[in-house]
Amino acid sequence: MPSIWKRFVYIVLTTIFFSSAFWILFGPISSLLLFGVIMFWVATHHVFHLVALDRWLLLPKKSSSNIPAGTSEWDDVFAHLARYVRQHSHSKELLSLALERMRNVTSAMPDGIVLLTENDHIEWCNPIAEDHLGISSTLDIGQQITHLVRQVPFFEYLAARNFSKPLVLNQTRRRQKIIISLQLVPYGFNQKLLISRDITRFEKLETMRRDFIANVSHELRTPLTVISGFLDTLTHEETTPDFDKRALTLMSEQALRMQSLVEDLLALSRLENDQNKINETNVNMPELLNEILRDAQSLSTGKHQIKLNVTTQSQLLGNESELRSAFSNLIGNAVRYTPEGGEISIQWQEENGKGIFYVQDSGIGIEAQHIPRLTERFYRVDTSRSRETGGTGLGLAIVKHVLNRHEADLEITSEVGKGSRFSIVFPAKRMI
Ligand code: ADP
Repeated sequence: MPSIWKRFVYIVLTTIFFSSAFWILFGPISSLLLFGVIMFWVATHHVFHLVALDRWLLLPKKSSSNIPAGTSEWDDVFAHLARYVRQHSHSKELLSLALERMRNVTSAMPDGIVLLTENDHIEWCNPIAEDHLGISSTLDIGQQITHLVRQVPFFEYLAARNFSKPLVLNQTRRRQKIIISLQLVPYGFNQKLLISRDITRFEKLETMRRDFIANVSHELRTPLTVISGFLDTLTHEETTPDFDKRALTLMSEQALRMQSLVEDLLALSRLENDQNKINETNVNMPELLNEILRDAQSLSTGKHQIKLNVTTQSQLLGNESELRSAFSNLIGNAVRYTPEGGEISIQWQEENGKGIFYVQDSGIGIEAQHIPRLTERFYRVDTSRSRETGGTGLGLAIVKHVLNRHEADLEITSEVGKGSRFSIVFPAKRMI
């Protein structure tokens, strides 16, 4: 039995005992008087301690040291209360230490972090985020972030709630232009983390790399055209000995390969260049695909059975020459990687409003581990085979860039020895 109950039973039994003794010795009135006096003393004792407890509870600074002293059972109660307060303040101390540590860590991070509420109000931000976004961790808490970062792409990015892709934003910091990448991360209950990173240096290097490749390719173009032209003339010259003709033919082939490599590199540079805005029209897909089909048939030289099936009359909003290059690359690959006698089917259809183009072949297929890397520049499953088929290793990289510019996705499924399917999914808003 808890000690408070024991004491209560002890007091009641003692009071009854003494009251009964008084009844026998002095009569009922004295007995009732004694009972009343004891009960009054017990009640006063409790009220006195309750008042002390109430006073302590109203104190602005409660600690174990200012807990009132108690007697009998109240001594136990106050001792328990003191222990509870000590434990509580210890865990509070640990919690604020952990919070302080977390603040120090986030302040030392090279990335900016902003905590946003469900409605995009700023809850907290670290010093780097203040610098990147021009916000203040003291003045702007509780403010809507779109009132402070006033750029349309940022409004659209927040509204889209697309947590998978980062947004690149140009900002001015102390009169200097910086480029930051912003990434939204969901956390907690509908809250968001906005992570910002300064990518100015990286973007400068990327621009330098792009410019270098574009310039080198451009500079190589003219000499290669001259070399190719003379090689061609010499090959067809009657006075050229047969042995030399064989060497000249080989040189011509290699010069042509270099020319297509240069052309592909230039095409990639154009696609990568953000300044090169996409010029869009309503593309007549049946017409475009029939033209590409004719090219594919001449590339195949009758070695494959190529079928085209168009099941929608919708036009596609996009850049015709970029789309032609993407479709031609996929169809050309199907021809080059399908042995003689194989089947190639090309399909253009509409599914749930989305535009779907696919090329299915019965060719050599691709092992699963290569599929995620196919769109990397110069990535080849089998280098010697790609050279044999005349590939530059840039075809699928070009496809990927064209699709990025058209907000489309590439899906690849393949089975070794059975064939591959390359599908492009265009968003419904591009189907006209
Ligand atoms: P390449 O010019 O070498 O063909 P691509 O970028 O067009 O370069 O393709 C990359 C690699 O993907 C190719 O080297 C080839 O191994 C593989 N590939 C592409 N299309 C097919 C296909 N239809 N069937 C089998 N392999 C393919």
